[in-house]
Formats: sequence, C-alpha cells, structure tokens
Amino acid sequence: MPKAPSIVGRIVESALGRPTRVLRVAEPAPGFLHLDLRAEPPAGGWQPGHEVQVRVTRTEARRYTVRRVEEPDRIHVLAALETGGPGALWLRGLRPDAEMTLLAARHVPLRQHGRRRLHLGDGSALGTFDALTADQPDPLVAVEASAESVPALAREWPGFRFVPAGGSPGDTLQRWLDSAIEGGALAGIDGALLLGHAQSLQRQRRALVDSEVLDRRSITTKPYWATGRVGL
Ligand SMILES: Cc1cc2nc3c(=O)[nH]c(=O)nc-3n(C[C@H](O)[C@H](O)[C@H](O)COP(=O)(O)OP(=O)(O)OC[C@H]3O[C@@H](n4cnc5c(N)ncnc54)[C@H](O)[C@@H]3O)c2cc1C
Repeated sequence: MPKAPSIVGRIVESALGRPTRVLRVAEPAPGFLHLDLRAEPPAGGWQPGHEVQVRVTRTEARRYTVRRVEEPDRIHVLAALETGGPGALWLRGLRPDAEMTLLAARHVPLRQHGRRRLHLGDGSALGTFDALTADQPDPLVAVEASAESVPALAREWPGFRFVPAGGSPGDTLQRWLDSAIEGGALAGIDGALLLGHAQSLQRQRRALVDSEVLDRRSITTKPYWATGRVGL
C-alpha cells in the first residue's frame, strides 16, 4: 500500500495498526537511523525480519523491517535515510516518547535457500541482514553504503563487508561481487539473498548465475526500492 486514498489508509490502519511508542532514536552512522520501539505485537508475535509499514503522509506508506526483537513488545528498526523521500523525512522527525502506529500482519519469513549464504544489498537491507544472520557465527554479508557511513558501519558490524558507494547505485558492490567470483572467494556458498535496489540485484543475480556460482533457484531476491520509483 505505498500510495492509497486516505480512507483506504485508515481502514488498513484500523485492521493492522499496532500502537507504538518511540523509546530511543540513535544515528549509528551518518544517514542511518536506529529506532527502539515499544510496539503492540501482531498475531504470532514480532519476529526478526518482520515487515512493517508506516503511514508517512495521509496517502502514502513506506515499508521497513524489524531488525531485532528485544522483548515481546520491544523491537528495533534500522532505516537508511538518504532518499529525500517522505518516509525518510517522517522518520527524521521522530523523537523519544512520540506515539505512532506501525502496520504489521503475521510474519511471513522470506523463502531462503542453502546453508552457507551470500547476502548482498545496500543500506536499506542492512537491518534485514542483521536480523537474518544474528544466529550465524560467520555470516557472508556485503553492503554498499555511502563512503562517509562506512567507517561507523564497519565498527558496528565488524563481521560484515562494507563497500563505499560511487557512481550509480550498485556499481561498487557489483565490482566487489565480480572480483569475489573471479578470485574464488565465493567457493562453498549454496544460496544467496539479494535485497535492496531492484536494478542492482538483477545484475548481481545474473553475475552469480552466468559464472555458475549458483543456479537461479538458489537465489532469493526482494527489491526494496528502484530507480524511478517511490515507495515500493
Ligand atoms: C519489504 C521491504 C522492507 C524494507 N525494509 C527497509 C528497512 O528495514 N530499512 C530501510 O532503510 N529501508 C527499507 N525498505 C526500503 C524503503 O521502504 C524504501 O527505501 C523507501 O522507498 C523509502 O521511502 P522514502 O519515502 O524515504 O523514499 P521514496 O519517496 O520512496 O523515494 C525517493 C527517491 O529515493 C530513491 N530511494 C528510495 N529508497 C532508497 C534508498 N534506500 N537508497 C537510495 N535511494 C532510495 C527512490 O528511487 C526515489 O528516487 C524496505 C522496503 C521493502 C519493500
């Protein structure tokens, strides 16, 4: 429901709305916002990787992901804010004690493949990768993010690989992927999760399949945003 008449938004909100209070807001790296929220759980409870929506204007909603579940009614979300869109603007305005409504249905986990997985994405996917790899001792995660955010992100997630964005979205991560394929660094992976910029993840999937590192069925893709589109 990225864009809908306000009456539809209100109906969805009354069906799926979870009353939520902001406990803490932090900026773990330039352009990233960490939200610590007290939120009434939906049916089945909150789960890491749970998809949520917020109504950011009367007619527009934006999607985010639960990064961590700290208590049954306490969750964390990580948002990348360098979009200039109404979602980023709305999130930037949140302060501790603010009341809001999260829209959430019962959690439907992403269908993933393999045991030793490659995770590729941009800042919008970082919270999801954090959620989905929390129980893995040595996760294989590469994320493209703005050059100024990379040092702080690398400190916060020392096990993840961060590459500084440059050129068009996905270009640097694609170079990283091409050289990882070329150098044999992906030997042993049997699945991949590609999230974030739609056009980039198509390129990444093509590189993995064409190089025969993975077959198409072992790759899960989920676009989070696309060039030329708002609010996927
Ligand atoms: C299932 C799902 C889960 C998601 N979870 C998260 C999450 O946990 N954290 C998170 O940060 N994002 C997440 N996203 C992505 C987020 O919903 C989008 O980035 C959204 O477009 C942001 O809305 P906006 O109003 O700020 O920008 P929009 O108004 O949608 O877009 C404004 C402009 O910015 C571009 N744009 C949009 N997103 C990005 C981006 N990330 N980087 C650079 N340019 C961008 C658009 O193409 C457009 O040109 C998720 C998306 C989906 C579909």
